[in-house]
Amino acid sequence: MAPASEADRLIARSAGRGWGGRRARRAWRDGWLRGAQWIASPNHGARPPRAEVTLAVVHSISLPPGVYGGDAVERLFTNRLDPRAHPSFAEVHALRVSAHFVIRRDGRLQQYVSCDRRAWHAGVSAWRGRENCNDVSIGIELEGLEGRPFEDAQYAQLLRLLRDLRRRYPLRDLVGHEHVAPGRKRDPGPGFRGPEVLQACGLQGPEAWTATVRDRSDGLRVSDVGVDPGRLIAH
Ligand SMILES: [Zn+2]
Repeated sequence: MAPASEADRLIARSAGRGWGGRRARRAWRDGWLRGAQWIASPNHGARPPRAEVTLAVVHSISLPPGVYGGDAVERLFTNRLDPRAHPSFAEVHALRVSAHFVIRRDGRLQQYVSCDRRAWHAGVSAWRGRENCNDVSIGIELEGLEGRPFEDAQYAQLLRLLRDLRRRYPLRDLVGHEHVAPGRKRDPGPGFRGPEVLQACGLQGPEAWTATVRDRSDGLRVSDVGVDPGRLIAH
C-alpha cells in the first residue's frame, strides 16, 4: 500500500479536531452562506415548528445526465428549464424541486435555498424512523452521475461546507439520498466516497458507510479523496 501523502496526514490530523479550525470560515446571513453563489429558487417552504436541522443529504445530479458545466440544473431549480432543449429535459422540466446547495465539478458552490427554509430534494423519505427528511435536512447536490466518481475539488468543498453548516446547525448525520429513499433512489451511489467523508467530518451515517470505515485495519484512509488544504481555502 502506498504511503500516506501529505494531504492524507493533514486531513487525518484535522479530522481528529473537527477538520480544521484554522481554515477560513464563511459567515451566515439568514441561512445563506457567504462565499457561495446565490441563485434564489422559488421552490422552498417553511420548516415545521421546532424542527432542528440534523441531517445532510448528499445527491448527484447532472442535466443532461453526464454532461457537466452547463446551466440546466440552475434552470431546473428555478423553474426555467426548456423541455425542448434536450430530450432528457421533457420528463423533468415540470418538477418543482430544489436543493440548498450544488457543488459543481470544479468545486464551485452554489446556494439555491436558505438553510433556514425547507428545500425540496429528498421526496418520500425516512431516516432513523422520521419521515419527510426535507423537514430537517440540508440537501447537497454534487454535479455528477449516479454511481460515477466525483472530483477532488468537490470533496474539498463538501468538507468545508459541512464544517460551515455544523457551526450554524446541529447536524448529526450525513447520508446519501439512496439511504433515505431505498429502492426509489440510488444517488449518489458507489462512486461517492461516503466512508472517507464521514471519517473526515465526524458525522454519523448509514451502516453502509460506517461499516466500511470500521472494517479497515489501517485506520483512516483518505488518500483517494486527495484533498489539498490549499484548495479548501481557495474555493
Ligand atoms: Zn437525489
